[in-house]
Amino acid sequence: MPVGGCTCAAILPVPELPEVETIARGLAKRVVGDVIESVWLGSKPEPLKTPAAEIEAALQSKKIVDVPRSGKHIVVDLAELGNNAAPATAQWIVHLGMTGRLLVCSPEIELAKHTHAVLRLASGRELRFVDPRRFGRLAVIEKFTPPGAEPLSISPAAFANLFRRRKTPIKSALLNQKLLSGVGNIYADEGLYRAKVRPRRRAASLTADELRLLHKGLKQVLQEAIRLGGSSISDYVDSEGQEGFFQLKHCVYGREGKPCQKCGTPIKRVVIAGRSSHYCPTCQK
Ligand SMILES: [Zn+2]
Repeated sequence: MPVGGCTCAAILPVPELPEVETIARGLAKRVVGDVIESVWLGSKPEPLKTPAAEIEAALQSKKIVDVPRSGKHIVVDLAELGNNAAPATAQWIVHLGMTGRLLVCSPEIELAKHTHAVLRLASGRELRFVDPRRFGRLAVIEKFTPPGAEPLSISPAAFANLFRRRKTPIKSALLNQKLLSGVGNIYADEGLYRAKVRPRRRAASLTADELRLLHKGLKQVLQEAIRLGGSSISDYVDSEGQEGFFQLKHCVYGREGKPCQKCGTPIKRVVIAGRSSHYCPTCQK
């Protein structure tokens, strides 16, 4: 769903793992090899998870060597100047929250309202962090380890193990960031549809076959979304800061009352732990 023209931040889709992966790749394309010459941080305290002085000290005069994703975090690997073989000295961690954006632009472009950080790059451009609702977070850390497992690389056996003896609904377990890093509401619903499992089922009640299908289904939807995002990378961090969020053709998410694409049964919506969950009452058991 393109959000063209709409300025209402509240309805922007919250970036999930595929969006963050796409943003990290887009950012890497633009800034890897560049050097941070100076750092400006805004006065609002919320976005800064590390004290401003520490962020400035860690970023200033560092080379950006890579921009991977970890869970729903963008990780900017930094290294000392001058020694190409030097290992990364620190990582600048960006969590976009609900409305956070990273822009790479020329310094002449007017600062957007709600800009919380501006990194002046040696190439003459600026890397800016803008976040109207201030749920995004900036931190500096030596080596970031996400709390949960990475859903795209976890083995089927380790995946199945996460849910053993868990009495919570499988939907809540999928959203638990201590178990899996970066799985959000949309992809949890879509993964469960592919596994033919209802979101309210107790996690521990899933059979080995269902867990296998869920692992596969979840990976498939995430990878498909990343592939779709790959074609719209330039929309993410361009100078205008247009949010070009692509959207996967959802099977269940946001389709309450619409017919299931497999069997025609209207898709149901229930609320589990405060989150909307969508499923097909016929296809999912
Ligand atoms: Zn169905």
